Amino acid sequence: MSPVIPIQAETTMGCTDVAPLVQRGQREVFCGLTGIIWLHRKIQDAFFLVVGSRTCAHLIQSAAGVMIFAEPRFATAIIDERDLAGLADANEELDKVVNQLLARRPEIKLLFLVGSCPSEVIKLDLSRAATRLSAVHSPSVRVLNYSGSGIETTFTQGEDACLASMVPGLPSPTSTAPKELLVVGTLADVVEDQFIRLFKEMGIERVRFFPPRRADDQAPIGPNTRLLLAQPFLGDTARVLQARGATLLQAPFPLGVEGTTAWLQAAAAEFGVSAERFEAAIAAPVARAKASLGRERAHLEGKRIFFFPDSQLEIPLARFLAREMGMTLLEVGTPYLHRQHMAMELAMLPAATFLSEGQDVEKQLDRCRASNPDMVVCGLGLANPLEADGITTKWAIELVFTPIQGYDQAGDLAALFARPLVRRMRLAA
Ligand code: SF4
Repeated sequence: MSPVIPIQAETTMGCTDVAPLVQRGQREVFCGLTGIIWLHRKIQDAFFLVVGSRTCAHLIQSAAGVMIFAEPRFATAIIDERDLAGLADANEELDKVVNQLLARRPEIKLLFLVGSCPSEVIKLDLSRAATRLSAVHSPSVRVLNYSGSGIETTFTQGEDACLASMVPGLPSPTSTAPKELLVVGTLADVVEDQFIRLFKEMGIERVRFFPPRRADDQAPIGPNTRLLLAQPFLGDTARVLQARGATLLQAPFPLGVEGTTAWLQAAAAEFGVSAERFEAAIAAPVARAKASLGRERAHLEGKRIFFFPDSQLEIPLARFLAREMGMTLLEVGTPYLHRQHMAMELAMLPAATFLSEGQDVEKQLDRCRASNPDMVVCGLGLANPLEADGITTKWAIELVFTPIQGYDQAGDLAALFARPLVRRMRLAA
């Protein structure tokens, strides 16, 4: 039987050598607190306590607006004027809030103290607070901290900071532990279950997902760990996992048929899966995905799309839309370009794609309007003015909230882009 050969990123391919336009001006992005919305759904016995202002509380409430829980798994401890003026001991207040919360909610096993712009401005040391509170509440509750502040970050970096904060607490494997695959990045449970089935059909049984669904499902990390990134915005998390001895598998991201196949191929090659077994495992979902993409392609082919930098998903999305949906890429903006994690994505992008890193929003808006796009992917703050100009927009944040990875979501991913174009066409008719 022949082994699966992983796709290699060649330095002469696609946009590997393209230098992006780098801009460091005014930016229009959400802050990292946004990540709480999908993280609290994923880790079901965790609680996220934002230490912030009323603005932070409003942001979280409005981002989570449609979700009503009897017992929500996030809240904001408000820093008020007395704390800001140094009239109250913020640490004492915080301890009181945490003690009350944990007394009332015994099901919480992992508590995140989430820093914000206000907590950073008053230099509240949440890492010391987390150590202090962990000592009081362990072993029943672990208390960790990370920053979700909007100072110099984008909204997906909240997840990166959250996951990176969990790594030091993960155990080490025994020296004889067999090779294990760790899929890193929040995926919807339904997507995770599909990947577990696919890996199983290939014979890869030792698979874990990070973050886990339960706080006590702690993956041991060491030289036997092979990392497969499911999300492109996890630079810090990958770095701290690699520092524990884990090996990162080079792969594109599992968006669309091509991306998902190459992503699975990277794992299959590492775990010695035969080409025949790999093909047998993916044949049916690939056929289903291709059929669903075919239905959407008619709406997207030849349409011109412009990406503002927001989620860090821009490059994998652009690769999918250009190669599998036939869209024309006008500009692909990304907040940060991590060349190592993006190596295969860049190699797969059409040659000479206009790439930009960072933002100077007014200049980018000028470029956008001048390029006359059919669709713009951007943050909420830019969508309304662009729609008012008659330009169809897609909110970048929707692509993070929606399950879009894997074969069975490929059609849904394409439909997210097709629907607004079809709606505008109908309105214009
Ligand atoms: S963390 Fe900063 S950017 Fe985010 S809501 Fe709070 S004040 Fe605003």
